[in-house]
Amino acid sequence: MNAFVRWLEGWFVGRHDNAKCFFVLALALPVLLVFWLMQALALLDAEWHALYRSGMLRTGQILLSTLLLIISLLMLHTWRQRHDPDRHPALTCALTLLLLLSTVLLGAAYGYKDSPLILFWLGFLFVCRALFGRKPAATGFIASLGVISCNEIGLSLDWWEYAPLLQNPIYVGQPLQPWWDVWLRVLYDLAAIPLSALFFLLFHLLEREKRQLEYWVRTDVLTGLTSRGAFMQQFKVECHRHARSRHSFCLLLCDIDHFKQVNDRWGHPAGDEVLAHLGSIMTHTIRPSVDVAARFGGEEFAILLPETGLQQATQVAEQISTQLRAHAFQANGHSFQVTLSIGIAQSNDGDGELALRIADDNLYAAKRGGRDRVVSAVAPAFAA
Ligand code: GH3
Ligand code: MG
Ligand code: MG
Repeated sequence: MNAFVRWLEGWFVGRHDNAKCFFVLALALPVLLVFWLMQALALLDAEWHALYRSGMLRTGQILLSTLLLIISLLMLHTWRQRHDPDRHPALTCALTLLLLLSTVLLGAAYGYKDSPLILFWLGFLFVCRALFGRKPAATGFIASLGVISCNEIGLSLDWWEYAPLLQNPIYVGQPLQPWWDVWLRVLYDLAAIPLSALFFLLFHLLEREKRQLEYWVRTDVLTGLTSRGAFMQQFKVECHRHARSRHSFCLLLCDIDHFKQVNDRWGHPAGDEVLAHLGSIMTHTIRPSVDVAARFGGEEFAILLPETGLQQATQVAEQISTQLRAHAFQANGHSFQVTLSIGIAQSNDGDGELALRIADDNLYAAKRGGRDRVVSAVAPAFAA
């Protein structure tokens, strides 16, 4: 049981969009297949056929077959692409809409009160909310409510009949007791709204907590930069992306010169101030939402510049060094300055390990060369 829960958790946490889409489609397929089989049986067997309305049954079966074909093709596509790390908001939104609207329409065809489809609709809504986030689920939820409301209005005005697919729906015939009629409407139609709203609220609260926790895990408190773990995660994704596009990226490794002496001479709080100030310089120098700057270790930093060549990366490195060198730190009534050594590697093939090694070699070359300098190189295999 525990292993099953862990396996299920695995699908909810850290999976790529395509794999999540495959999971949702695999959940929906058997549900829709049951209805397809019932209708296929009705087309073959006279006894079953008597339960349906002939004309509607054929149309319904053609529509359901088309839907199952689309779902099968989507399953094939998403399974093949399940390791693709890119986000696919349009796919997740379209998939949520497709499943919720088809369940609602099938529910209308069979009659909401005669089939369990409203429960499947709720189930799909919650799974899509958990896997794809708020936007696709909210879009599907509002669209479904639109369809349910239109159906209710059409039924009240006698524009069409309740459960048009069935010959003898259970809840048609003898007029219902008014209290039972109201109860059914509340249970089958309206219960979905507060119940869904409650789940949306629950997910919202959980996500707020998760975002807060993630912030503390992903951020270095002193400098405000990305933490080493979060950087490496993002670095891997970027390497994967660059390996496919064959565009170049640059990696900068930076180390404050003689930082131990800063601590020894001016005190630990002064050392902390240097680290925080360098963090602020980096944040203001790199491109927001494109580049990533991280505190790698004590006084070591890493910067990833996607889609960037060596010349541009060297300029960024020089800008950071110049700003740090120009700043006069204050401690015990004295002012002092600090310098930075930077090693840069340009990668053209997305080999992250090689880029890290070259940037590290260049950082040590900068230290050996007398510190306060930038040393750069293109990954050798692709230098040509
Ligand atoms: P080099 O120029 O060769 O890099 O010499 P260095 O003195 O900068 O390098 P070393 O690795 O010897 O010293 C790093 C120092 O950074 C030692 C450690 O006390 C200090 N340090 C690490 N984390 C922190 C921190 O969070 N705050 C402060 N104030 N100091 C820190
Ligand atoms: Mg160091
Ligand atoms: Mg150092």
